[in-house]
Amino acid sequence: MTNRTPAQQLAENWNRVVDEVRQATEDAGRPVGDTVVIGVTKYVDAQVTGWLVDAGCQNLGENRPQLLWQKADELALDDSVRWHVIGHLQRNKVRRTLRYRPLIHSIDSPRLLKSVADESANLSLESHVMLEVNISGEDAKTGMTPDQIRSVIGDLPSAGIKVVGIMAMAGWGTDSKAAQAQFASARQFRDQLAAEFDLSLPHLSMGMSGDFVEAIAEGATMVRIGSRLYEGVVDIG
Ligand SMILES: *Cc1c(COP(=O)(O)O)cnc(C)c1O
Repeated sequence: MTNRTPAQQLAENWNRVVDEVRQATEDAGRPVGDTVVIGVTKYVDAQVTGWLVDAGCQNLGENRPQLLWQKADELALDDSVRWHVIGHLQRNKVRRTLRYRPLIHSIDSPRLLKSVADESANLSLESHVMLEVNISGEDAKTGMTPDQIRSVIGDLPSAGIKVVGIMAMAGWGTDSKAAQAQFASARQFRDQLAAEFDLSLPHLSMGMSGDFVEAIAEGATMVRIGSRLYEGVVDIG
């Protein structure tokens, strides 16, 4: 047994995940820098989040806005670290959240998109966002239907936002083959949208601890990884 500190264990986990992501990207025939790892910090406190940044993680993902605010305020990280909103964002939390200049992956309704665009325009910002598509079709999953996304893109606000891609999650309990098929359909949907609306939609946010290899094989450019990072560091239940 070695006796690493929790911070050392976290750094080791981070390096291993980065290596696996790099390998999966290479195996998919893509340039190795093509896939960004977003360290999901929803399970841990600001201190552990700080260790993750020290280990080299420059992209942090939170699914609850208040926890993002709290960690961002406590850590006061410099501009090399970017926050990512990956869960439901209530409209009454948009303005405060924009203070941290996040990339918002989880635009899950036309009303939220409009709210982000309006609040950003008020602050003379252009927020980068992704539209969350429901690819698994289960009620339990969030996101817009492909038709809703088409209508949103056909009627984008003229200021305040730039849509840079699509976010997707595999359905609960899907095996890796089924997950890969869902990621493939998300990519195809993105490709169709880009062609139909003559848009550049470079990003695909998909893949988590259990399925990032499949997601990268299907073109993920951002993988959102949480639990893998904390093995042997903190008990996340
Ligand atoms: C928690 C969460 C993740 C990370 O999941 P892990 O399986 O812990 O890697 C990714 N995306 C979203 C939207 C999440 O809520």
